[in-house]
Amino acid sequence: MMGRTHALLGAGSIWLLSAVPGAVTNANVAPLCAIAAFGALLPDLDAGESMIRSLRVGGFRPFAPIGFVAHRQWGHRALLHSPAGLVAFAGLCIPVGLLWGPLPAVALGLGYASHLAGDACTRTGIPGWPNRPDRRFFLLPPRSRLVTGSTAEECLVPLLAVAILLLLLSHYPTTA
Ligand SMILES: [Zn+2]
Repeated sequence: MMGRTHALLGAGSIWLLSAVPGAVTNANVAPLCAIAAFGALLPDLDAGESMIRSLRVGGFRPFAPIGFVAHRQWGHRALLHSPAGLVAFAGLCIPVGLLWGPLPAVALGLGYASHLAGDACTRTGIPGWPNRPDRRFFLLPPRSRLVTGSTAEECLVPLLAVAILLLLLSHYPTTA
């Protein structure tokens, strides 16, 4: 899937968190969506080119060196896209939770998981448990799987954008 689809899917994954009473509030809904969108870009550090690798912060591309190593070491849609990669990333979220609280850590993890779920809906799929590149894992039946960059994926973009808008609006402060 394309970077923007992943970012939107990640932000949209905060819908799951909003099912927990009191977790998502007017004050934190937008930051949580942003954190989840960021988390949703991270698995593509292993891609030759990706949104996360080209992300610029103050004129620098801080994720480019890590991405270079990850791509060279494992290749695309390998360890970072595997269930084992998700478990390892969940472990990395623990210090985030200790530093900034559980909600940002959960948002980061949800974003990452949404990326794997999104790629599991494509024809290439993701590695099977724990990291089996030869046994791909898919969430959709063969004929329904998406092709990255296809019209079908383009159609998802406005739908995801509307879902996020509804999430933000549902937490809009309604003071008279
Ligand atoms: Zn990916």
